[in-house]
Amino acid sequence: MNKLTTADMGTQKINPLLRDSAEKFRERLLKSAANSAQIALDFGKTEGASTNELICANILLNRIYTTNGIYQGEKNFFTKALSYIKAAKNLIINDIKSTQHLADVLLYEGVTRSNIGEHQEANQLFKEVIEISTSREDEYHVVLALVAMSKNSVLQNEFSQAEQLVADAHSFLQASNLADEESLLAEVYEKTAEAHIKKQQYSESLKYSQNLLEIARKNGDIEKELNALKFIAIVCAVKSNYKFGMQYFFEALDKSEQIGYRPNTAHILINIATIYAHLYNYDDALSRYHLVLSDFDDVIDDNTRAAVYNNAGNIFYATDRHQEALESFESSLAIAEQCNYKEMTVHSLAQLSRAESRLGNYSKSLEYANRAEGHLQYFGDINGKQINQLNLAKLFLLKEDTAKALKLGQAGIETAKKLKDDVSQLRGHRILSNIYKAMRDFEKALKHQTQYSLLQEEFSKIQRNRRFLDLEIRHAIKEQQKEIQALTKENEYQSLLLSQSDQIARQNEELLQVNEDLRQFAYVASHDLKEPLRMISSYTQLIERMCKDIPEEKQQYFEYVKDGAKRMSNLLDDLLRYASIGKANIDKEIVDINRVLEVCCFNLKVRIEENNAVIDIPQFPAIYTNKPLLNQLFQNLLSNAVKFRKPDVDPIVLVRHEENEKEHIFSVSDNGIGIPEEFRERIFIIFQRLHARTKYEGTGIGLAICQKIAQKLGGKLWLESEEGKGSTFYFSLPKED
Ligand code: ADP
Repeated sequence: MNKLTTADMGTQKINPLLRDSAEKFRERLLKSAANSAQIALDFGKTEGASTNELICANILLNRIYTTNGIYQGEKNFFTKALSYIKAAKNLIINDIKSTQHLADVLLYEGVTRSNIGEHQEANQLFKEVIEISTSREDEYHVVLALVAMSKNSVLQNEFSQAEQLVADAHSFLQASNLADEESLLAEVYEKTAEAHIKKQQYSESLKYSQNLLEIARKNGDIEKELNALKFIAIVCAVKSNYKFGMQYFFEALDKSEQIGYRPNTAHILINIATIYAHLYNYDDALSRYHLVLSDFDDVIDDNTRAAVYNNAGNIFYATDRHQEALESFESSLAIAEQCNYKEMTVHSLAQLSRAESRLGNYSKSLEYANRAEGHLQYFGDINGKQINQLNLAKLFLLKEDTAKALKLGQAGIETAKKLKDDVSQLRGHRILSNIYKAMRDFEKALKHQTQYSLLQEEFSKIQRNRRFLDLEIRHAIKEQQKEIQALTKENEYQSLLLSQSDQIARQNEELLQVNEDLRQFAYVASHDLKEPLRMISSYTQLIERMCKDIPEEKQQYFEYVKDGAKRMSNLLDDLLRYASIGKANIDKEIVDINRVLEVCCFNLKVRIEENNAVIDIPQFPAIYTNKPLLNQLFQNLLSNAVKFRKPDVDPIVLVRHEENEKEHIFSVSDNGIGIPEEFRERIFIIFQRLHARTKYEGTGIGLAICQKIAQKLGGKLWLESEEGKGSTFYFSLPKED
């Protein structure tokens, strides 16, 4: 085989695998996507696929592992992603024809590096992509590189730069031939919406997010859909439209969990918790904060972790759980200090001071307040400053230094106003009122007291509304859950039904097969066993004749053998009869029952006469059924009725008939020994007998045959019996035909 054909073969096999992997990657089924691509790559290497395919496989694997790294927050995935891109690069270096992939390779290497914090290297790579692609008039890659650069800027917290880059990408896209290319548009919209969110340009972001949502839904891009939902939710939340915010966040949460995008799931949970906290639904808020700290600790950064502890602390404080509040603020402080998150450090210190003061630990409170002040020297009005100013005002008031207290109290209210912190304003008025009271300036004290009351009233109103909103949201969520539950139940029920009916069908099939096997077996066995049995009988007779001289008592042995052979022959005959019923055709005709019974009695003549039995048969109607089978059925029942007689009572057998709309019911009653209750089911089982052969001869097949015949004719067989008095066997035959 020459080289070209081998490569073609490899290509033929590798391409479907790569397509499969790309499809799974699109659905974000990362594990199986990686599997397929890896198999494709290994296969391609051994089977000699073209360099082109090998490069594609390596690039795809890089993208899968980078995404997995982002989803799992796992460094190893990025390392692996880099190794694949390196392999792709090497392949390009060795094969001049494959430089068409160079832009892709550089771009995705940049994306991976950007995610492990190698922002400069990433930027350099993106610039190279732009350069190469511009010279090749490859507009597609220019746009992709620009949005990748924008994301890189976001990751470095350079939001203005990010905004500029996406704006460039946008205008470039519009000027190009690719303005309708939806995947590219989605890419641009996504990064634009993100940059605007970061720059707090919410209305702008909303516009792009909505466009993104539309495209993502149309193309089934779950990751972009979830990001669009998240951005929209954030905008709703900052605009205090909590209801819609929640709705979008929950939807985004579902998608995020579905594809296992863990950092995103964590952030959405935090947002949901924060809205709950705004709605004074503290339990639901806390449960989410806890969930983030317990299950997503590995994918949130320190800033976020500090903020979560701080938020949880605020809730504990608001619900008078001071010890827990202190612990949460301490955690928040430790993390914020460690990662140099100044604002959070100040906020946590201020809150610690406030909590200690509430517990009456004034010296500790002062210590924290002073530490906060130390940091605050370098800042303008940042969150936490107002709290600390008021903390200090309160502490100075306690020390009866009213002048300092007043100054800080007033400053605190001003800062609170600037930061739009209603709670601190409220608190400020109360503290100022107390300060004026201490200064015996009752007029001003009253003024602040009045303002406090007014604000408090307004505040209560807002609180009431938000609580109401929370109820509404809770109700909506419950309804939704109910719907989901109902749907799931319905689904489960349906699949249960399906699996059950499948199972029943399968079991029926198996049963039919088993029955057929059994019938075949019984038929073949009984048929084939008769021949050797005949040989035993004939040769026994021969030997018997030859052994005339042996003593009389030994002659008896021949009788045993002959008797055994005879019994076995009977058994086989019955077995054969039993097995043949299954095979018998059931052609039906008008049957004269009296004629059938006549034949039966004729066949049983010897037995009837020997037993001095009376068989009472009235005049019966003719019925439509199968004659040979009915004959067999009656004959067996009559034979038993005479056979199982009481030794001292002559048998009287009554054959009777009844009918209803649907069926004929025949019965055969005797005055025989009867059948004990506990054996009434067993007697229908093949070879089951209740008596010693010496007492009542038989094979134990008769009733099994009767039952089979009744069933075959579409009816049933049953009995009533009284031990020692007699039995009645009934069977029904359907009328319908
Ligand atoms: P067999 O008659 O060859 O023993 P059957 O299948 O016909 O086998 O009956 C099974 C058992 O049911 C019998 O051995 C007997 O103990 C019991 N039986 C059947 N018919 C009667 C009857 N009319 N009265 C009492 N016992 C009966």
